[in-house]
Amino acid sequence: MQDNNKNVYPVTFKAIQREEKEKLINQKARVIWMTGLSGSGKTTLAKHLDKALYNRGFLSQILDGDNIRSGINNNLSFTNEDRMENIRRIAEVSTLFLNCGIITINSFISPTEEIRNMAMGIIGRENVIEVFINAPLNICEQRDVKGLYARARRGEIKDFTGIDAPFEIPLDADVEVRTDIQTVEESVQQILDHVFPLIQLGIKN
Ligand code: ADP
Repeated sequence: MQDNNKNVYPVTFKAIQREEKEKLINQKARVIWMTGLSGSGKTTLAKHLDKALYNRGFLSQILDGDNIRSGINNNLSFTNEDRMENIRRIAEVSTLFLNCGIITINSFISPTEEIRNMAMGIIGRENVIEVFINAPLNICEQRDVKGLYARARRGEIKDFTGIDAPFEIPLDADVEVRTDIQTVEESVQQILDHVFPLIQLGIKN
């Protein structure tokens, strides 16, 4: 009889820890979680932030609808249950990056306290920098970057956040930017001011 266990060896050495990987790339990992209405500026600020971090020698990865909903979560809809599952998987993916020492910039509407708390529970609140990207609904609707508000108003999209699904203001955000009265540069700077001390190695926090 063939011995199937012949080539199975127990792994006894300790896996390389997050701190060691952080040291390797000279940064502390965090999840920068951006929450806000559609059109509030999450994608815009995520891209600028990613570039600003890169320019200063930090390694980050944007997680957003473009790379998550089209890939790992392409089997999920926008029902409550699927929105929860969407965010749960995003939180788990963020944790993998975190343990690799990499900063993620998560750009998701994540409209309710329940959904954000679930994400924080998985990632660990101490690892998350919650950023409220705030612009009033009427401004987001005027911008209507993707034409989604017009479609929601016509009833072509149901359960659209801000129209016929709630957006709960985050009560515990670490940073709030007001994209209706700030320039993109001002908003990015405000976020960077908060983030820098937390991602620099050698700074106690
Ligand atoms: P979201 O990802 O939240 O749906 P987007 O970033 O796609 O939002 O769209 C936001 C729109 O608002 C963009 O057209 C952007 O140029 C504009 N905008 C104006 N001022 C700001 C600001 N301070 N921060 C971010 N976006 C801004």
